[in-house]
Amino acid sequence: MIQSVSNRYIQSERMFKQAEKSIPGGVNSPVRAFKSVGGNPVFMKRANGAFLYDVDGNEYVDYINSWGPMILGYNHKDVVSAIQEQLRLATTFGAPTEVETQLAELIKTMVPSLDLIRFVSSGTEACMSALRLARGYTKRNKFIKFSGCYHGHADPFLVQAGSGLATLNIQNTPGVPSAVTDDTLVAPYNDVAAVEQLFEDYPNEIAALIIEPIAGNMGCIRPADGFLEKLRELCNTNGTVLIFDEVMTGFRITPGGVQGFMGVEADLVTYGKVIGGGLPVGAFGGKKEIMNHIAPLGQVYQAGTLSGNPLAVSAGYATLKVLNENQEIYTNIQNTGALLKKEIHQILSQNGIANSINQVGSMISISFGEKEITNFEDITPSSIEKFNEFFHFMLSHGIYLPPSGYETWFISDAISSSHIDKTLTAIRKFK
Ligand code: PMP
Repeated sequence: MIQSVSNRYIQSERMFKQAEKSIPGGVNSPVRAFKSVGGNPVFMKRANGAFLYDVDGNEYVDYINSWGPMILGYNHKDVVSAIQEQLRLATTFGAPTEVETQLAELIKTMVPSLDLIRFVSSGTEACMSALRLARGYTKRNKFIKFSGCYHGHADPFLVQAGSGLATLNIQNTPGVPSAVTDDTLVAPYNDVAAVEQLFEDYPNEIAALIIEPIAGNMGCIRPADGFLEKLRELCNTNGTVLIFDEVMTGFRITPGGVQGFMGVEADLVTYGKVIGGGLPVGAFGGKKEIMNHIAPLGQVYQAGTLSGNPLAVSAGYATLKVLNENQEIYTNIQNTGALLKKEIHQILSQNGIANSINQVGSMISISFGEKEITNFEDITPSSIEKFNEFFHFMLSHGIYLPPSGYETWFISDAISSSHIDKTLTAIRKFK
């Protein structure tokens, strides 16, 4: 039984009003605010398996996975016990611990192209550091990114970025000097000619090309056939470092990430989200030839007080160990993704609602229109408007989606047929 909105979110509304007095916008990351979809955010209290429970006691099937990390579902027993065990010893020392090496070795088993990996505490730090390293290594300043891709909130990346910037329609962030973004070159996703043109315009000047090899910050977008291969070729020809930002896709799409899935190797790869199992961990890694330039081996400086702290790394290690030893998980979440895509498309179409659904493995997004979405430029305001309606409808039926039509939904291994049934039953009622 759906309660009236006013009864359903009494505690959330109260907590939000209180939060606004001390925290900008009441949230500590803009994508959590309901700015695009309207209304106020729901405050969460606990989670288990595939369910979230808010402070008013409402239950939701979770398709957000804390924006990606919770691939195993909430409170996975191995992850919880790894955290508890480490908690008894210490949360951090600021000195090396063995579990950092264990995680690095496990990652190298899963992603054989990596020689060296440095742990940081967020995806932002990972991408920022990888770019600095590529610039230090090549002694060049310019780099290419794609419109609608998001690589964290470090200054040089805040140009035509997806995720929260697209949601809030922020084109240029005040506080980022143009001197910092003058070297940021932008091309549309899946547009080889635009990338070729940039390499032609700036010969021997481009340090790096960074890309989400499957994009997830403008909904979910698959690279066109041959696109990544062509980028690899252009980077080789031009002496440019190819960086795959796998903060979202790493250990989510396959054990080896998109590199393993698409068979294209990057020079540097960045990670976050799943690699920390729900605690703050990011990483960047690659071939020795480049990674040797990072301090203390080389002169490119990068550091962090809590980088690789054993508590967070233990959660990441436990998560990756489960994934590595139970690779059928990838088949399971891929099948759930494919089923949801097929069923949701059918139901919405039967209800007379035009839709186009993109799905790769456990990442999925809906555009409300006939046109297939292949880059940021394809997303229409009318689709976003319809998504906002859809979001609130689903929320009121106990289904928690990301509060923005520009964001990807994530499927965890805890999602089973009963959760799928609940989701589809709700969608059948959406007109
Ligand atoms: N890169 C990508 C592809 C991301 O999706 C994100 C976060 N959504 C980041 C980088 C930044 O990660 P973080 O929020 O951990 O700083």
